[in-house]
Amino acid sequence: MQFDQVGADALMEITSRPDLVFVRGQGSWLEDHNGKRYLDMIQGWAVNALGHSPKNVVEAMCKQASELMNPSPAFYNAPMMELAKLITQHSCFDRVFFANSGGEANEGAIKLARKWGQLHRQGAYKIITFEHSFHGRTLATMSASGKAGWDTIFAPQVDGFPKAKLNDIDSVRALVDEKTVAIMLEPVQGEGGVIPADPAFMQALRQTCDEFGLLLIVDEVQSGMGRTGKLFAYQHSGVEPDIMTLGKGIGAGVPLAALCAKESVSCFEHGDQGGTYNGNPVVTAAGVAVMQTLTADGFMQSVNERAQQLSEGLLALSAKWGLKGERGQGLLRALILDRDDGPALVEAARNRNPEGMLLNSPRPHLLRFMPALNISKEDLDQALQILDALIAQVRS
Ligand code: PMP
Repeated sequence: MQFDQVGADALMEITSRPDLVFVRGQGSWLEDHNGKRYLDMIQGWAVNALGHSPKNVVEAMCKQASELMNPSPAFYNAPMMELAKLITQHSCFDRVFFANSGGEANEGAIKLARKWGQLHRQGAYKIITFEHSFHGRTLATMSASGKAGWDTIFAPQVDGFPKAKLNDIDSVRALVDEKTVAIMLEPVQGEGGVIPADPAFMQALRQTCDEFGLLLIVDEVQSGMGRTGKLFAYQHSGVEPDIMTLGKGIGAGVPLAALCAKESVSCFEHGDQGGTYNGNPVVTAAGVAVMQTLTADGFMQSVNERAQQLSEGLLALSAKWGLKGERGQGLLRALILDRDDGPALVEAARNRNPEGMLLNSPRPHLLRFMPALNISKEDLDQALQILDALIAQVRS
């Protein structure tokens, strides 16, 4: 493939590397338009839960596409019903709405909570969210997010998202008033720097919600679908949220997300929520294949084995190079650096020859790892070896 400069210039700017174009991917490996291979430790921000082009997902989509691509958004279809059934069977939720992105699923969660507030809490509408959180790039989800700078660039914000501090229940309780309808959090803050919510904090949030009649919303767009070593991250804490959103891994690379709710909260009626592509059978067929893989015997055990390998490998590197340890849950982990050379390591990894590696540094003092859930032991070992060499190179 030739690099197409005219085409690149015709795109709105969404990348810092417009010259890097990938043309092929298989498992944990990507290939760019020059034929260079990259070991992928971010998998499109945890999207490709089963690596690039997983065979069973591709086959399920091709079969569905050849049978029926889109009956009409006005009707249910077989894969969307099957996927809704599988999600409800494996979670504490009763109802599912399929969205096209994590941001759209969260937008739906906010709407659902607000409607519930109109119906049951005299118009309460405020949703307490958290500093450094990330919920998407629609106007409401940006307003819900605790990302610095966004409050002014796209002003005015959507009203009603006071920000508390993660793992600090007093900071949450101080914000609750008669207009509060819900508390919304990522069980592991992803973009914020891979910071898990403590199980005790999750339990305190549930108690606070029960005490004041609030809904607990978990944004599992990044932490869900096996990423943290359980099917859904809330399951680590023993608490049952009222609403959960899913995205990224649920479609293994295609645009699919979900809004899940308990029956008692599920108050959307025909016309409240929806759109042309919601629940499209080709993407929900991908979701069914993903759920079947994740719930197959032994799959989550192997995710936890790889997570342990990654955690131990990062700890060993930390000890060797005098870094500040590692943290995370399952295969969503971060290496904490002792200086702000995360971006330099990401750059060096990409530029490495003959094979590169894709890393991510959501904050300059850390590297985030989100490999395929089915990454091989060998590929993960190789990634850790390359990382060791990169630290030596960048710090020499
Ligand atoms: N919520 C969380 C926790 C996320 O990590 C992301 C994406 N990084 C989103 C929502 C937004 O998802 P999408 O990009 O699919 O809209």
